Amino acid sequence: MEFFGHVIDGAEVASASGETFASVDPYTREPWAEAALGGPAEVDLAVAAARRAFDEGPWPRMGRAERGRLLHRLADLVLANADRLGLADTRDMGKPITQSRGHDVPRAAANLRFFADHARLTPAEALPMDSGHHAYTRYEPVGVAAAVAPWNFPLMLETWKIAPALAWGNTVVLKPAEDTPASATLLARLALEAGLPPGVLNVVHGYGPDAAGQALTEHPGVDRITFTGESATGRAISAAAARNLVPVSLELGGKGGNAVFADADLDNAVSWSLRAIFTNAGQVCLAGSRLYVQRPVFEEFLARFTAAAGAMRLGDPKSDGTEIGPLASETHYRKVRGYVETVAAEGGTVHAGGLGDGWFVRPTIVTGLPAAARHQREEIFGPVVTVTPFDTEDEVVALMNGTRYGLNAMLFTESLSRAHRVSARLRAGTVWVNCFFVRDLRAPFGGVGDSGVGREGGTFSREFFTEPKAVVMQI
Ligand code: NAD
Repeated sequence: MEFFGHVIDGAEVASASGETFASVDPYTREPWAEAALGGPAEVDLAVAAARRAFDEGPWPRMGRAERGRLLHRLADLVLANADRLGLADTRDMGKPITQSRGHDVPRAAANLRFFADHARLTPAEALPMDSGHHAYTRYEPVGVAAAVAPWNFPLMLETWKIAPALAWGNTVVLKPAEDTPASATLLARLALEAGLPPGVLNVVHGYGPDAAGQALTEHPGVDRITFTGESATGRAISAAAARNLVPVSLELGGKGGNAVFADADLDNAVSWSLRAIFTNAGQVCLAGSRLYVQRPVFEEFLARFTAAAGAMRLGDPKSDGTEIGPLASETHYRKVRGYVETVAAEGGTVHAGGLGDGWFVRPTIVTGLPAAARHQREEIFGPVVTVTPFDTEDEVVALMNGTRYGLNAMLFTESLSRAHRVSARLRAGTVWVNCFFVRDLRAPFGGVGDSGVGREGGTFSREFFTEPKAVVMQI
């Protein structure tokens, strides 16, 4: 069985206790790898290494161009190892290989390249003042950044955090999700190969509460916490950060609403709506899990959407032809199964799909549920979508805005004025019009309400991972 250690101070190590935990392949339902099980002792070592690398090492003092060169080299290595990295995520959590190798790995490389270039090229403010003084801003690194990541896009979201932190001169301690340890260790090995100095990127494996995750986010030696995961975990981490007065960025859960208006291009709406909910078996924070379809096209849309969902290929996520793999773990499968099994009790109908073999859930379309049903309010995080008719723009805006979440929303319409008008009224960090998941890494990314605090991306990441300093000179 493959072993994935912590990476601390430039070396891959086991835990002092020798303890490990297994990573279970959700397709075979057998362990395929072992990872070192870290706790407070490993977190202490990693934070100390990151601190030394920050205080004494070359990284923060290196020019941005030189740091950027090393991050580009890491991106090259990520792409050169696409098969291995893609397979690691696929075996850890069941994502189809075409998505892990074909989408997440290139996006991870793009994250590294984008933030390397962004840090090098972004100008800082220079403010010649009326008084004759001159003020300018220095964006200085903050120190040690703690990154805590989820299991649904392991490599892609880890690089989304690590890349800006490193590009701006910080050092990092990453705690990957316990379900997906492999690609984080592989990435840290590649970072050493690329020439990142020891202690700049550290990885500690382990669980969250009362374990490595909590030890890291409560650690007094950490200067920033960037977290992606569940809203409840975000609350716990926010409380820990408050005790140490550490800024925290929280990218949390979602319950994306998706409105299809009668004037939409239905082919386009079906195609994107399908991807919005069934990509990664619905294990996407941005998933369009609440579909609202305007009544004149409701039946036609539902028929086309159902046919397209029924044609999706479930199977071995390691096979190129597979579009939907199993859910990531037994625990998660049981949670999603619980929602599928309670549709009727909440007054709805499983229109298509349902439970599959093993830890598979088929693309599941639910109709007839009231807005108050749990399925319409809670994040299911699986391939389960509720479809509800609506009549007016006001009605659908109220429905879309009717959850505690506010990460993203989608709308499909050929009316330009409606697109702008409705986008402005939606309570969401991102609104996609006639598309889904199209990202410009300069754009703000984050959510409102229970979907998070703060924004990352472009200059938003710079604000978080630096201490802007004003220098005012009399000249
Ligand atoms: P999770 O909150 O259970 O775990 C995420 C990470 O936090 C893991 O590494 C875990 O070990 C750690 N953790 C758990 N409890 C902790 C604690 N008390 N202290 C410190 N660390 C702790 O989330 P998950 O199940 O891995 O991920 C799925 C969730 O992530 C969903 O809610 C999804 O919507 C959300 N998500 C959000 C975004 C976004 O950008 N907004 C992106 C992807 C996933």
